[in-house]
Amino acid sequence: MKLKNTPIAQVAIPVLLNQLFDYRIPDAYALKDIGLGIRVLVSFRGQEKVGLILGLKPTSEIKNEKLKFVLSFLDSQPLLASKDQQLLHWLRHYYHYPIGYIFCNTLPTLLKKGETAVLKKEAYFSLTLTGQKIDPTSFKRALKQQFFLQTLQESTQMSETVLKTLDKSWPQVKTAFLKKNWLIEQAYYFSPTPLKNCLNETELVLNQAQQQVLQCIEKTLETFTVFLLDGVTGSGKTEVYMQLINKVLQKNQQVMLLLPEISLTPQLETRFRQRFNAPIVIYHSKLTDKQRLQSWLAIKLGEASILLGTRSALFTPFKNLGVIILDEEHDSSFKQQDKFRFSARDVAIMRAKLTNIPILLGSATPSLESLANVTKKRFQKLALPQRAGKAQPPKIVLLDIRNKRMHQGLSAALLQQIEQTLSKEKQQVLIFLNRRGFAPRLMCHDCGWVACCAHCDANLVIHQQQKQLRCHHCQHQYLLITQCPACQKNALNALGLGTERVEQFLNQRYPDKTIIRLDAESTQKKGMLEKYLTQINQGNVDIILGTQMLAKGHHFPNVTLAVLLDIDSRLFSLDFRAPEKLAQLITQVAGRSGRGKIRGKVLIQTRQPQHPLLTLLIQQGYNAFAQHALAERKMALLPPYSYQALFRVAAFQEQCADDFFEQLMPLIIQQNQHNILVLGPVDAPMRKREKRYRFQLLFQSESRAELHAFLTPLLPKIKTLKTIKKIQWSLDVDPIDLY
Ligand code: ADP
Ligand code: ZN
Ligand code: ZN
Repeated sequence: MKLKNTPIAQVAIPVLLNQLFDYRIPDAYALKDIGLGIRVLVSFRGQEKVGLILGLKPTSEIKNEKLKFVLSFLDSQPLLASKDQQLLHWLRHYYHYPIGYIFCNTLPTLLKKGETAVLKKEAYFSLTLTGQKIDPTSFKRALKQQFFLQTLQESTQMSETVLKTLDKSWPQVKTAFLKKNWLIEQAYYFSPTPLKNCLNETELVLNQAQQQVLQCIEKTLETFTVFLLDGVTGSGKTEVYMQLINKVLQKNQQVMLLLPEISLTPQLETRFRQRFNAPIVIYHSKLTDKQRLQSWLAIKLGEASILLGTRSALFTPFKNLGVIILDEEHDSSFKQQDKFRFSARDVAIMRAKLTNIPILLGSATPSLESLANVTKKRFQKLALPQRAGKAQPPKIVLLDIRNKRMHQGLSAALLQQIEQTLSKEKQQVLIFLNRRGFAPRLMCHDCGWVACCAHCDANLVIHQQQKQLRCHHCQHQYLLITQCPACQKNALNALGLGTERVEQFLNQRYPDKTIIRLDAESTQKKGMLEKYLTQINQGNVDIILGTQMLAKGHHFPNVTLAVLLDIDSRLFSLDFRAPEKLAQLITQVAGRSGRGKIRGKVLIQTRQPQHPLLTLLIQQGYNAFAQHALAERKMALLPPYSYQALFRVAAFQEQCADDFFEQLMPLIIQQNQHNILVLGPVDAPMRKREKRYRFQLLFQSESRAELHAFLTPLLPKIKTLKTIKKIQWSLDVDPIDLY
């Protein structure tokens, strides 16, 4: 930028005001050092804040003497290139979200706090020739030295981090070894040679369908195309991803692979590390701030080639991005459900467009949005209709439990099938129940009292092991009582099924079988999930019981029977997306069965065996269901045939919300020159939550452009309403949950 005098910096600051702030730049700074995308330290309302320069201008509308100076510059190079900035600008317009929040809060936490953006090298150790020749058993007493010498002799090279975790005596041993000239120390960003256990596994020979898919995508590298890879569970999508990645790496480009929840599928990371002799970094919320910063920088600087991440990884700047892959594209965890409510899938598509590269969306159960985009020819559909290798599709059966005697939620017919499967060597049963805790309701048999949360309109869930009642909405905990507080009788009953209850029952019924429960509770402790998954894959488990965690892309080759309990309530949900979500869930859970040599079976317990959703899905499969559901949505003019934005309001006092809507509604009527359908205000489905009363207003239009043309001028006006100070509000563009 050519400016004669020191310009004024327009700085994005992480506050909820939708504007940039002007700061003067001290004359001492050379103009060439001041670029867009550089972090600065500024004083804002008496506080020091880290901001990002997004613009420079010769003068400000505010008088010079009133302007503050930038306190210091934190970067010498821009953190975000212009392409990255372009994406974030698009985001802020599309989601109508404050610019400073978007630019600053999509950075890794440490950068937001002002940490220097320097990728740290790590020390790696290998033995010298002398070191390699020492006989470890010659250490009679120095057992730690013996241990480390042996360990290093068995590998080519090991990082300081790994060595330290092996034993805390490493620093002393290191000093001793260096003194004896047994050790070589070198610093790298990433291990230059594959670590032990990281054999580079060879590629599989693709079957014909996989080959076709790969060729199609390969042809479009370096141009923007959206592919929807519709591949049944176990069809070898991951193998296609890996071979595609290999092609991109050969062009010296980088790859971004986004997944719903990486920590649930640690096997995938292992699979990638075994396959690629290229630096891989991961990025998700369970890592430490330091680890996330390192991953981010490694990708930005081009030191790492592959990024495996969740939705928060989406904003990582790449040096040379070649393809984006987004697996399980239907998964709702790609949508952020608080604060800045973006859809990682939709933003990833925009990112691919701005970068002019292909994006591959994969799923066995594509979202109706994506299928509609195929029909509109915006997406190109690719299919893998059969399971790879020798595995056959599982057989799905409905178990009618009307009038049947139940054993803690399991019918006799179901128990018989479970027992039959377990009697066969090495076969495992998977039981899906999407509710943690012991039971969802505590009720008095005598007077009908039900335990409810004091802060939410919600039942308390019984957690028997912890002797607690818990609210799953505000996380409040109460003591598990035995006497009814309303009638004082000891007549409290646990109603309904939770994983804890089924686990207890299975343990009593099958005392010699190993049963593992996988839910948020049982896997809370670090390392537990990995431990369980290893145990399952080693075949040392008979029954795997769990919540939706089980539906997430796991590959358990010994599971031959998958069971779904208690899905009926979802057949009657008011949410128009409920059928789609249920069909995806059933198909995904079913897809865990029979992935090995033996054909799998799936049992769905239901009191609605004639329900059209279930019969259609089971007789004709997910695609037939999806076409039917799309036709219904079209008739009702619901998304994807219309576009929605949900305006949510919450207040500690209902009156505050009433007052606000009284001011808001006339404004909306006045602004609505676009035929926007306005529904509400109405109570939110859960009216009270975390002590606040909640209301909502839905805006809907058949034209996305018109919806946004309505919202863009409306929001600044809403912010000026007096009554807004006493409420909390948010706007959810393309909401996927209308709660
Ligand atoms: P998806 O991601 O579609 O669920 P995976 O990629 O996990 O499926 O593949 C399922 C199984 O099929 C894996 O065990 C994988 O190794 C195997 N597989 C994939 N492609 C092939 C192939 N071309 N030949 C043989 N086996 C394959
Ligand atoms: Zn009672
Ligand atoms: Zn609560």
